[in-house]
Amino acid sequence: MLEKTGIVTRDRLDSKINELLSSPKRKGAILECYEEIPCNPCSTSCPTNAIIIKPDINAKPEIDYEKCTACGICVYNCPGLAILVLDMNYSESKVLFKISYELLPIPNNGDIVKGISRSGKEICDVEVVKVINGNKQDHTSLISVAVPKEHFKEFVTIKVGV
Ligand code: SF4
Ligand code: SF4
Repeated sequence: MLEKTGIVTRDRLDSKINELLSSPKRKGAILECYEEIPCNPCSTSCPTNAIIIKPDINAKPEIDYEKCTACGICVYNCPGLAILVLDMNYSESKVLFKISYELLPIPNNGDIVKGISRSGKEICDVEVVKVINGNKQDHTSLISVAVPKEHFKEFVTIKVGV
């Protein structure tokens, strides 16, 4: 399915989300890297060694949620834009996402923007909580957004402006 449509199958995604939900902290990175490719910036950039790629660089990355601090560094270091960070504890009604964003305009803290689903549809309004876009991010902004809980399994990115 992924290969034909570009949309990850529900089973694959649910398995990743369930792993996060069953971890004690209920926050951390979701690595949506489903193919074996020679790539490892997520692992080499992680300050806590929470991402393991073994036995060699072609293996799919795996996350150790005990070590992950949900910092988001791997998010903007992934060339495939394949990592999201989720914090399920952000509030009663919202999940905090950290996403990579390479389009313009870059939103500002406090903006309300459109939440976009995995199939490209506008599904909800989301609040921009924090934007980090410095030299370290190298034109890939790290944007924190608060997403209504009822949409967190579908949400994948934002649309800024009209
Ligand atoms: S969010 Fe931070 S701690 Fe967690 S895997 Fe990514 S870089 Fe490592
Ligand atoms: S950096 Fe991104 S594309 Fe490369 S292995 Fe890690 S998650 Fe996959």
